Amino acid sequence: MASWSLGGALKGMFSRATIDETTWEDLEDALLGADFGPDITESIVDELRASVAKYRTTDPADLRRMLRENLEERLSRLDPTLKLTARPAVVLVVGVNGVGKTTTIGKFAKFLVGYGRTVVVGAADTFRAAAVEQLATWAERGGAEIVRPQQQGQDPASVAFQTVERAQRDGIDIAIIDTAGRLQTKSGLMDELGKIRRVIEKQTEIAEVLLVLDATTGQNGLAQAEAFIQHAGVTGLVLTKLDGSAKGGFVLAVQEKTGIPIKLVGQGEGIGDLTGFTPHVFVQGLVG
Ligand code: GDP
Repeated sequence: MASWSLGGALKGMFSRATIDETTWEDLEDALLGADFGPDITESIVDELRASVAKYRTTDPADLRRMLRENLEERLSRLDPTLKLTARPAVVLVVGVNGVGKTTTIGKFAKFLVGYGRTVVVGAADTFRAAAVEQLATWAERGGAEIVRPQQQGQDPASVAFQTVERAQRDGIDIAIIDTAGRLQTKSGLMDELGKIRRVIEKQTEIAEVLLVLDATTGQNGLAQAEAFIQHAGVTGLVLTKLDGSAKGGFVLAVQEKTGIPIKLVGQGEGIGDLTGFTPHVFVQGLVG
């Protein structure tokens, strides 16, 4: 069973003979424990209480079905489709160091190559040579080409420019551009992302700006997301480390709070451990 599943927490509740006050308390505890956050938890419990009253049911199996439907409806309010029809489609990947950005880029390349697309990765985090090499390793695993900085500390925007140029010249379908994630210089970082975007936009439209968030950071991740959303034009979220998280509720919290769709989900350290986000499948895993 997936670690973000509510299965354990819900088991006692749904195996009782009838829905009673304890059921509602247990449901609230389970949702809070899974990091749905107080507002969303209250809203879900209120809606389910209303449904249970409306249908005059006392059967926990009905409540389980209503919970599934409620979560699926909420998660389906935003469109998770990646918009990658442009040729080349340029994808900017942003996020704080350590969230899993490098591995996500490798996995994403592999995912796209699996659909018959060609991919070039641009190493526009030019500050640390080791980071560039790590990205190159993951790009290679994913079956992508890489554009490296010619020297350490080269202007990140120029690497982004060269990456898009390479994709245009060689007819490569998708250019994925890695960016720096040093939050200690937040305004510097946001300026850098702004410059990268301006330079690319002179060449072509940016298809997606994906913000990578670590699901294990829970509500802290939300605070991190704010700055990027305000300054980087984020079009989609990638949640990593969902395999190691007991906080499945973060998935809904982050989407409702930011208003930005989750487009990809990372569930492991391997090259194949990235999938598109499917609310139905996710809720099946969460509620059982
Ligand atoms: P970056 O600093 O954001 O580029 O982060 P990395 O891509 O280097 O990843 C940081 C750590 O998180 C590494 O140990 C990865 O193996 C791990 N990691 C990344 N994605 C996942 C995931 O979906 N699940 C798990 N369990 N670990 C992950």
